[in-house]
Amino acid sequence: MRKPLMAGNWKMNKTVAEAVSVVKALKSSIADVTDVEVLICPTFTALYAVNNEVKGSNINIGAQNLFWEPKGAFTGEISPTMVKDTGCSYVLIGHSERRQYFNETDETVNKKTKAALVAGLIPVICIGETLKEREQNITFKVIEKQIKEGLAGLTPQQAETIVIAYEPVWAIGTGKTATPDQAQEVHAFTRKVYSQMYGDASQKVRILYGGSVNPTNVSDLMKQPDIDGGLVGGASLEAESFTKLVKYSK
Ligand code: PEP
Repeated sequence: MRKPLMAGNWKMNKTVAEAVSVVKALKSSIADVTDVEVLICPTFTALYAVNNEVKGSNINIGAQNLFWEPKGAFTGEISPTMVKDTGCSYVLIGHSERRQYFNETDETVNKKTKAALVAGLIPVICIGETLKEREQNITFKVIEKQIKEGLAGLTPQQAETIVIAYEPVWAIGTGKTATPDQAQEVHAFTRKVYSQMYGDASQKVRILYGGSVNPTNVSDLMKQPDIDGGLVGGASLEAESFTKLVKYSK
């Protein structure tokens, strides 16, 4: 049985005080939740303070990125050990905004994934097609390449530990959600590719859907057999709406 994971990606939003105030509210509004795992990914600058606030609660924290080298002359970068040191258990890797604006590729995703695993972090690897790719009918081809190259060299045991987030680029921050059927189709395909690469790990890996998830569409998405949770931007920024997502089945 895969435990659902509801993850909030705060992107480049919130000062330290704002971030702490939202997790404080969230901590009490979801204190009774045990059937869904909860993850918040604030900016680097808020990680330490947010971790102090969530200690002992059911909220996990993750970073939105890392660099693959352990240390050295890489001005502006943050190592996997530094991320772990702030209290993170997860890290987002290869979000489409990183691929689009910061030239991340499947090769850099692969390096970051391996470095995160070495540091004891669980990578949440983001994959997804652009609108143009969907219109050209090459969605499956794009997804297969992202999985095969992004995960190259992982052991089956590592492959079942990580999390995949399918986020169609055309649905991120646009208010256009994939229909539950569209999302399910790609999730099932992802699991099929996974099973060819890693056998049984395909039944254990959690595959999240991301792209304009909100309190209204979450329960239909979560009813799909291969959707194991959400990676949520906009609707994770306030405690009230994120609580509704975490409590989607209530
Ligand atoms: C995201 O940040 O990964 C995302 C899916 O954003 P939104 O929910 O705002 O579309």
